[in-house]
Amino acid sequence: MGDRRPIVIDLEACREEGASNTARASLTDLYRSDVFDDRAMRARLPSAAYESLRETMNKGTALDPRLADLVANAMKEWAVERGATHFSHWFQPMTGHTAEKHDSFLSFSGDQPIVEFSGKALIKGEPDASSFPSGGIRSTFEARGYTAWDPTSPAYIRRGTRASTLSIPTAFCSWTGEALDTKTPLLRSCEALSREAVRLLHVLGRTEVRQVFTTLGSEQEYFLIDRRYFAARPDLVACGRTLMGARPAKGQELEDHYFGTISNRVLAYMEDCEEQLWRLGVPVKTRHNEVAPGQFELAPIFERSAVAVDHNMLTMDVLRKTALRHGLVCLLHEKPFAGVNGSGKHNNWSMATDADENLLDPGSDPGQNARFVVMLTAVLRAVDTHADLLRAAVATPGNDHRLGANEAPPAIMSAYLGGELDEVCRGLIAGAPAGERKGAQAMRLGVTSLPPLPRDSTDRNRTSPFAFTGNKFEFRAVGSSQSCAGPNIVLNTIMAESLRHLANRIEDAARKSGLEVAVQQVVQEELKKHYRVVFNGNGYGAEWQVEAEKRGLPNMRNTVDALEHMACDANVKLFEDMAVFTRRELESRATIALENYEKHIAIEAQACLDIAATMVLPSALQMQHRVAVSLSAARSADSTLDLAPQESLLKGLAGHVSGLLRANSALEQMLVQADGMGHGEHGIVRAAFIRDQVVPAMGCVREHCDALEACMDDELWPLPKYREMLFVH
Ligand code: ADP
Ligand code: MG
Repeated sequence: MGDRRPIVIDLEACREEGASNTARASLTDLYRSDVFDDRAMRARLPSAAYESLRETMNKGTALDPRLADLVANAMKEWAVERGATHFSHWFQPMTGHTAEKHDSFLSFSGDQPIVEFSGKALIKGEPDASSFPSGGIRSTFEARGYTAWDPTSPAYIRRGTRASTLSIPTAFCSWTGEALDTKTPLLRSCEALSREAVRLLHVLGRTEVRQVFTTLGSEQEYFLIDRRYFAARPDLVACGRTLMGARPAKGQELEDHYFGTISNRVLAYMEDCEEQLWRLGVPVKTRHNEVAPGQFELAPIFERSAVAVDHNMLTMDVLRKTALRHGLVCLLHEKPFAGVNGSGKHNNWSMATDADENLLDPGSDPGQNARFVVMLTAVLRAVDTHADLLRAAVATPGNDHRLGANEAPPAIMSAYLGGELDEVCRGLIAGAPAGERKGAQAMRLGVTSLPPLPRDSTDRNRTSPFAFTGNKFEFRAVGSSQSCAGPNIVLNTIMAESLRHLANRIEDAARKSGLEVAVQQVVQEELKKHYRVVFNGNGYGAEWQVEAEKRGLPNMRNTVDALEHMACDANVKLFEDMAVFTRRELESRATIALENYEKHIAIEAQACLDIAATMVLPSALQMQHRVAVSLSAARSADSTLDLAPQESLLKGLAGHVSGLLRANSALEQMLVQADGMGHGEHGIVRAAFIRDQVVPAMGCVREHCDALEACMDDELWPLPKYREMLFVH
């Protein structure tokens, strides 16, 4: 039987730590102290080399190889001063996680050991790539891939227990140049968006703009549970979520956890994480308790997308690792516990020019207002036209438990604008000439001003998957354990396509009728065509499902539905036109996502079988035996006793024990059947079987386990319970 006692940490020791904290380095000294940042580069490189590297980092151009040795040497010296013995190319393969291979700086000059780091080693690495998923891109005979330094994301130090490692963010490609990671297409999508946004701004007369960046601020939700509970739950260990567990008497119904006082133990953990993240240059800003018991959130200040994605990956890593030394485990799964809220990752997204002008900021003069309305139109058109891709970008087995489950946005992709902006758009669609309609509705783009829009509205709609929040959009359907790369690749690409479409149309129309009229006309037509995607009501309501269907909006309820057409011809054309994915790259990603679904559910099903057969069943049989023995003892002691309620207790127990045995063998059969199946067209047949047969069969096992948990001797129950895991910290 598992040990259900929590690890109690020494509160006295915590106080000690707190006392010594007064002498700690200030936040500004800590911040970026483990990053080879601008300050470090400037101090350690000759000025010509520094300027050249700076240029490379800003523009994302290739590094001059003559510079590489100089930069590598400066980096090495900087790192060695911070205790580094190793360097590592850090990359993001299509596992959705990060990967790293470490090499020491050790080299020899004659027989003398020296510390060496060459430009070549900085620029390119050759990890054995054959064991990373490639979705068929790489057959084993051409298994090699290489990592290439991404100078737009700075190198940093990871501190181990005895020494440090210089970590170099890299992209990961096959030798044929195909992307094997999530970073390469993300960088390509940023480029595509910049190219198309600059072009549209030039058409609008903003010819001074040279580059446009996408920005990302990702709010990270997570659960913390005591490490000892985690170790006693094979489902958490294997799958990151509980596959069974009866509802506790108290869940989240009192709404007393959200923004509640943070316990000392959790606060000590948060402080520890934040200090490490600040050192790594991750601009962590906010921490608070979330809605579910045991659930928390961390949010950074937004940054350029590619760096923000790296930083979110680092954040997840730090959250996981740090928990262990506090006797905790950090669960990043989208749905660790049934019956309380799951975890998401709000993906706050916007675009900014090289002069730091936020293109989704409505601005304060008619010119800025017009620019904003054009950008907004492009967003709405993108979300409407490519809702399928946005949906596919958040399709994971974990997220299937969240989307559409009354705690997270529905699986229907729609955009929320809020009352005021909605009115402005409706006015533009109606096209009423100035003066005929009141205020906002009489807007002439480029001439009249937008009415003031609330920046920080308190009546924010929490039920929309894609909500305008004053000067950015918040994509709320992203799962907590996901890399933000996928969703942002899609956002940037569909936006780039939409910007191109608008630029083409406005340019054409302007030749005939002048810019101002052209903008007004194109905005009006495009808004009208795509306004069906705007929904300001309650996304959780059943009426919305009906209404969305009437509007013709797709409703892909699960991962398999969402992935089925991900690599269809239209999507291949889109990604090829925007130079983000080739056909093979897109198809390989769809294959990997589907395989990922199948593998995850298969692991869950196997864990479910194991726990039911080897932990729940033996305990339940003991309980059944006890009741049976006690019943027959009572009966023989006194035949006049009313034993009916005890008989039904035994009946209930026996019913669930037999039910569990039946459910387990049904699940086992489903797995065998799935194993023997082919993939069919789109590789979808087996995945659909798993969704329709294996997932419900697991649900059936769970039902019996949860019912048994509710009527068994607490001492006999072999697993930590929800009431313990969620509340004992
Ligand atoms: P909330 O949505 O909880 O009210 P905020 O509006 O302060 O919180 O921001 C949430 C997240 O959005 C933060 O990570 C913040 O840095 C980010 N954010 C703010 N402005 C932008 C922007 N222009 N682009 C991308 N993210 C942004
Ligand atoms: Mg938010």
